Amino acid sequence: MEAKKTYKDFLTYSKEFPTKDGYFGAYGGAFLPPKLEPAFKEISEAYQAICHSAKFISELRRIRKEFQGRPTPVYHCERLSNKLGNCQIYLKREDLNHTGAHKLNHCMGEGLLAKFMGKKKIIAETGAGQHGVALATAAAYFGLECDIYMGEVDIAKQAPNVTRMKMLGARVVPVTHGLKTLKEAVDAAFDAYMNEYNDAIYCIGSVLGPHPFPLMVRDFQSVIGVEAREQFFEMTGILPDAVAACVGGGSNSIGMFSGFLADPVDIYGVEPLGKGSGYGDHAASMSYGTPGIMHGFNSIMLKDDAGDPAPVYSIASGLDYPSVGPEHAYLHDCGRVQYVTATDEEAVKAFFALSKYEGIIPALESSHAVAYAMKYAKEHNTGSILVCLSGRGDKDVDYVAEHYGYGEDFEL
Ligand SMILES: *Cc1c(COP(=O)(O)O)cnc(C)c1O
Repeated sequence: MEAKKTYKDFLTYSKEFPTKDGYFGAYGGAFLPPKLEPAFKEISEAYQAICHSAKFISELRRIRKEFQGRPTPVYHCERLSNKLGNCQIYLKREDLNHTGAHKLNHCMGEGLLAKFMGKKKIIAETGAGQHGVALATAAAYFGLECDIYMGEVDIAKQAPNVTRMKMLGARVVPVTHGLKTLKEAVDAAFDAYMNEYNDAIYCIGSVLGPHPFPLMVRDFQSVIGVEAREQFFEMTGILPDAVAACVGGGSNSIGMFSGFLADPVDIYGVEPLGKGSGYGDHAASMSYGTPGIMHGFNSIMLKDDAGDPAPVYSIASGLDYPSVGPEHAYLHDCGRVQYVTATDEEAVKAFFALSKYEGIIPALESSHAVAYAMKYAKEHNTGSILVCLSGRGDKDVDYVAEHYGYGEDFEL
C-alpha cells in the first residue's frame, strides 16, 4: 500500500514517475510475449531520445497550433453555475480540438514519433472507432499507412466512424474470431505488429498498455492541464478549488490532472457507474476493481470468477474498459486523486443541462465529468471547479434522442 501523499509531495513527481522500467509504485511495467519485447524497447528508447529534442518539441507545437487549433479555450459556465448556486463551473474545451475530442493530442504525438523513427505505418485496434478516427487523421497528416483492426460486430455498430476512417485513407481490417469485438481486435493488432514492427509502430489509444505508452500518452495529453492552469489563472487570478475529468482508460483525465498535482487543488476522476453497481452493469474499474495484470500492464481491474477481464458496460462507449491506466492506480492509492462515479442517468441529465443552459452538446463520456461537477457545485455552493470537456456530443445526439427524448422537461 502506498503512503498517503499531499500536493506538496508532487513538485518533482513527473521527473520521478514512471521509473525507467515504467512503474508508478507497484503499477505499470511491460508484460509482453518475448517476441514483442524488442519492439516495445525500440519505441521506448526512441521516445526517450527524441522527446526532449528541440526539433520534436517545436514541430509538435506547430502542429498543435496550426492543425489542431490549440490552445483550446477555458469557458465559464455562468448560466449553469447560477442555476445551481454559488459555485462556479468552468470547462476546458477539448471538444473544440480538431476531430472533436482530446484523442488527437496523443495520436499526433504518436504519428510524429513514427515519422521521427522512420516508420512507414501505424497500427492500432479500435472499439467504438474514436481512437481509429483520430489515428487515421494523424496518418493522413503525416503520410503514413494506417491499419485499424476492428471487430466485425463493432464495424456494424459504428458505421459512421468506419466511413470516416476509410475516407481518411486508413485500412479497416475486420476481426472475425471470438466475440468479434474489442478484445479480439487487440489480439489481432498485436499479432500484426509482431510481424511488421520493422516498418510499423503500434499506437495505443489511452494511458494504457505496456511501458512506454502510459508515459508517452500522458506526456502528449499534459498539454490539456498546462494550458488549462494558465488560462484559468489568467481569467480569475487564482487556481480552481477542484478539477474533474471522466476516466475511461484515463488519458484526458491524466492530461488535465498532471497540470494540478503539485497545487492545492482537489482532483476528481469520474468513473462510469452505468446502470448501477451490479456485476457487468458498469465500468467503474477503480471504484470496484482489484489489482491485476491485463493487456500487458499491472493496474486495478474488474475481473470475472476466472480472473479474466469482466464484462463492462457504460452508456458512453469510450468509457467501457475494465481497467485504468497504471498512473491512476498509483494516484488512487496515495490519495492524491479521488475517484468518484456518475451513472448513465446522471450523465444524460448533465448532457441536457449543458446543451440547454450553455449551448454546448457534450460527448456522453464528458457528460460524466459534468455530472460530477454539478453535484460538487450543489454540495459546496462556493468556490470553483474546472472540468475537462473531453469531446463533443454530435456522435451521441441520435442515441440520446431515441432513448431519452429531447429533454424538454428534465430538471436540474
Ligand atoms: C475515448 C474518450 C474518452 C475516454 O478515454 P480516456 O482515455 O479515459 O480519456 C473520454 N471522452 C471522449 C470524448 C473520448 O472519445
